[in-house]
Amino acid sequence: MRRLLPGATIGMLGSGQLGRMFTQAARRMGYRVHVLSPTAASPTGQLADVEVVADYADSDAVAEFAAGVDVVTLEFENIPSASLEAAASRAEVRPGVRALHVTQHRGREKRFLAGLGVPHVPYLEVPAGGDVAAAVSRVGTPCVVKTAGFGYDGKGQRLLEADADLPGALTLAAAQPVVVEAFVELAAELSVVAARGVDGGMASFAPAHNRHVHHILDLSAAPAALPAGVAAEARAVTEAVLEGLELVGVACVEFFLDVRGRLLVNEVAPRPHNSGHLTIEGAETSQFEQQLRAVAGLPLGSPTPRRPAAMANLLGELWQGGEPDWAAALEVPGVALHLYGKDAPRPGRKMGHLTATAVAVEAAEERVLQARALAAGASRPASA
Ligand code: AMP
Repeated sequence: MRRLLPGATIGMLGSGQLGRMFTQAARRMGYRVHVLSPTAASPTGQLADVEVVADYADSDAVAEFAAGVDVVTLEFENIPSASLEAAASRAEVRPGVRALHVTQHRGREKRFLAGLGVPHVPYLEVPAGGDVAAAVSRVGTPCVVKTAGFGYDGKGQRLLEADADLPGALTLAAAQPVVVEAFVELAAELSVVAARGVDGGMASFAPAHNRHVHHILDLSAAPAALPAGVAAEARAVTEAVLEGLELVGVACVEFFLDVRGRLLVNEVAPRPHNSGHLTIEGAETSQFEQQLRAVAGLPLGSPTPRRPAAMANLLGELWQGGEPDWAAALEVPGVALHLYGKDAPRPGRKMGHLTATAVAVEAAEERVLQARALAAGASRPASA
């Protein structure tokens, strides 16, 4: 396919914050963005040139949408296969249907990782209504039972500390396939975001160190302070995954680093990732500009860090006492505020994020946590 230069139209399937930040990068560079969204005035639609409101499962609407753009990309991996194929019949879809098919299902994804010889969490697959109890007893407790499809942010997961916890897992597995994973004693959680271009060229960002609260990402910091060799291994594994998926675009590989120092792949997201938001201020090219460059067939940008950076998510809870105190948060040096244009701050909903840069990654973390605490109404330190 020819290279798409500024003025071309990119079609975005999915309309949340990832599409919004992609749109900011694409429009800055003179591209047009059309978004397909299930709701009107979505976070992406507010900034896009055109917002088409349709259900992701409406394959006719998706085909018509694709016919009106130069290339289709996405920010949401759970687009039904029939819709992706409908889009692919009208336009190039990047990443492609196969990369999506593999990563939409934990069982398929783990089989793919095993086939690549990439270290991953030990697991067993159980078909819908299958014998979960037998799988749990083979894997052993503690273990984690996860639905194979359509899970994110810890949704569709049960931790089994002991066999007594089995009833919850049985409910989960009654009507859908699941995977039973060994529980990993974590030293740290890491992720690597990388881009792969049309020509197969690759650019991976420095690994991020991630902390989750209630299974939702709370804080990311990069470049992560890691033992020698671990960062290089994480990047090499990530690049092997993108290569194996023949993915054109941006993807994120999430890793567990266990207490014995082993790096295991947890999961793969075939799109920009929450842990890569800090590349906007922290890297020479952001993950969103990389997505644009990759899908447009442009040269990839440099993933080199500009400055150590840390990102803290802003969930709906922060709005419990009314509008957060943004002015107080922005008094902290090196802090940038991103809000996603969502009007209903429900608990657990990602409403925005803060990123702080500093001379060292620990200082960036301190700044971003201080800024978030101030936004939440904490009193200012005497020196501020
Ligand atoms: P996931 O949706 O698979 O990324 O899981 C969300 C979070 O739950 C992870 O980031 C971990 O903090 C935790 N988790 C999931 N699976 C496991 C596991 N097998 N062992 C230990 N912690 C896990």
